[in-house]
Amino acid sequence: MQKEKLEQEVYVPASDRIGQLDPLSDGISSLELIRVSGSDLDVANAARVSYGKVSTEISERDKKLISFLMKHKHTSPFEHNQLSFRIKAPIFVVRQWMRHRMNSYNEISYRYVKAPVEFYIPGKWRGQHKTNRQCSEGTFQSAELDAKYRAAIDMAYKSYEELLEAGVAREIARGLLPVCTYTEFIFTCNLHSLVHFLNLRIKVDAQPEIRKYAQGLLELAEPHFPVSLGKWKEHWMPKTEEITV
Ligand SMILES: Cc1cc2nc3c(=O)[nH]c(=O)nc-3n(C[C@H](O)[C@H](O)[C@H](O)COP(=O)(O)OP(=O)(O)OC[C@H]3O[C@@H](n4cnc5c(N)ncnc54)[C@H](O)[C@@H]3O)c2cc1C
Repeated sequence: MQKEKLEQEVYVPASDRIGQLDPLSDGISSLELIRVSGSDLDVANAARVSYGKVSTEISERDKKLISFLMKHKHTSPFEHNQLSFRIKAPIFVVRQWMRHRMNSYNEISYRYVKAPVEFYIPGKWRGQHKTNRQCSEGTFQSAELDAKYRAAIDMAYKSYEELLEAGVAREIARGLLPVCTYTEFIFTCNLHSLVHFLNLRIKVDAQPEIRKYAQGLLELAEPHFPVSLGKWKEHWMPKTEEITV
């Protein structure tokens, strides 16, 4: 039973990992694919079970079938697989991420452990978009704003530590932590829900920080499902330009 289970699931050994990405390029953020099960062949076979057929190797016909399924949003054959990622991201990114309910999550608890001194500091300031109330546009640098942002974080974290030292419980002292504090979680999805996430979060109207993670998810997942994700890129991938964070 155990052997059968191991054969069905491809554990990605450390040496085979495509690498641990740093989506926000600050040496703290991270995105790592920790486990994958299933393949493009399983997608094709899930569709072929409808007429009692099974393929043992992916063929050109299977690739055409996957293209048809992806193009026409026949989504259920993309659900018989699983990808797990270990992610480190600012709390404000994770607030957006966890709105995607058709996935599984486990997150570090700042009730159990003290929050580390890890904060997301933007590399550039983005201006408020003039017409889209949700978006930003243009970038600028300001040493004065950098100093203000850092001073606010320092003060918040110092006060957090003072509360802990005074015997306040972690679960209540954490109320002082800014939403740029890093948190860590495990995200497990299938290809159907991954593609749904990518459709919404790679797009230009999503916040640049979560778009960076969405790009990373695609980069790490695509080598394991080259046909399915290749066909998603061909048929559905939203237009993207370079993302500034
Ligand atoms: C650019 C952008 C801006 C956003 N802005 C805001 C905002 O200002 N405020 C805000 O609150 N949210 C906002 N969201 C979050 C958004 O409303 C969704 O919660 C999020 O994108 C997850 O999408 P989803 O529900 O389709 O995904 P999932 O939760 O993963 O669900 C996948 C699919 O399952 C089905 N489903 C899941 N749950 C239910 C249910 N309860 N009933 C029926 N069908 C269900 C739906 O078909 C859904 O599309 C924003 C999202 C984006 C991408």
